[in-house]
Amino acid sequence: MSDTKVYLLDGGTLVIDGFHAFWNRGPGGELRFPCYSVLINHPDGRYIFDTGYDFDHVMRVLPFEKPIQEKDQTLPGQLAKIGFKPEDINYVINSHYHFDHCGGNKYFTKACTICHGAELDACSHPQPFEHLGYSDLSFAPEIAKAAGKTLPADPALDMYTPKFETLKGDQELAKGLWLFETPGHTAGHYSLMVELEGRRPMLFSADACYSQKNMDMMCISSFHLDPVASLKSMQRLKDLAAKYDAELFYSHDPDSFKNYQTGGNFYA
Ligand SMILES: [Zn+2]
Repeated sequence: MSDTKVYLLDGGTLVIDGFHAFWNRGPGGELRFPCYSVLINHPDGRYIFDTGYDFDHVMRVLPFEKPIQEKDQTLPGQLAKIGFKPEDINYVINSHYHFDHCGGNKYFTKACTICHGAELDACSHPQPFEHLGYSDLSFAPEIAKAAGKTLPADPALDMYTPKFETLKGDQELAKGLWLFETPGHTAGHYSLMVELEGRRPMLFSADACYSQKNMDMMCISSFHLDPVASLKSMQRLKDLAAKYDAELFYSHDPDSFKNYQTGGNFYA
């Protein structure tokens, strides 16, 4: 905990409609939002929480989300800025397996992958309305194969044979590094809290809440498996933030993101 540092790794932006971001509320119209990963450099190991989207995948499958991602906004590019390589990462934690949270898993050839057991089940048997969300299965070539899907040729996948460790319930992965169950957006969604020496704990909502505005309005996104569970998880995040005096960091919040530290700066 005392030596833990947290870096936010900028992964570029995507576009969705306002009625998707704010379900049945809107207003409609294009909303461009950030995607980022979190590097936790902890005395027990280096953890990456979520791995953003893969530009080629989005252009191929969801080009209407209009990705903007510079060369240095890939995970290898972001890690290079702070002197790390993907091989230096020990653990990848996925909040869930939507394409914009697991597109960079393939770079982490030496890491153990940690996720909720229900999420790994769900991504291989998605509901019909979840197919686009779970469209990038490059994080689990074996699951893609079992589902009869051929992954596009990609040199990054040649060395990639992930090992999964599935969890359920709330878990303290390492001292001061907590996973909290926040289902509803997907079947097995986790949010992450990191306790640090010199500041309030950082509570990363992931897609249990896209933005401060979603939280203020108690308005979920239109992308969800279970809207009631989704709303309960938003309330849970609020309660956790109050209990631990934690600062909430939202997954896709263009306004908040401007004030987050990125570009090689860290929280400690
Ligand atoms: Zn999602």
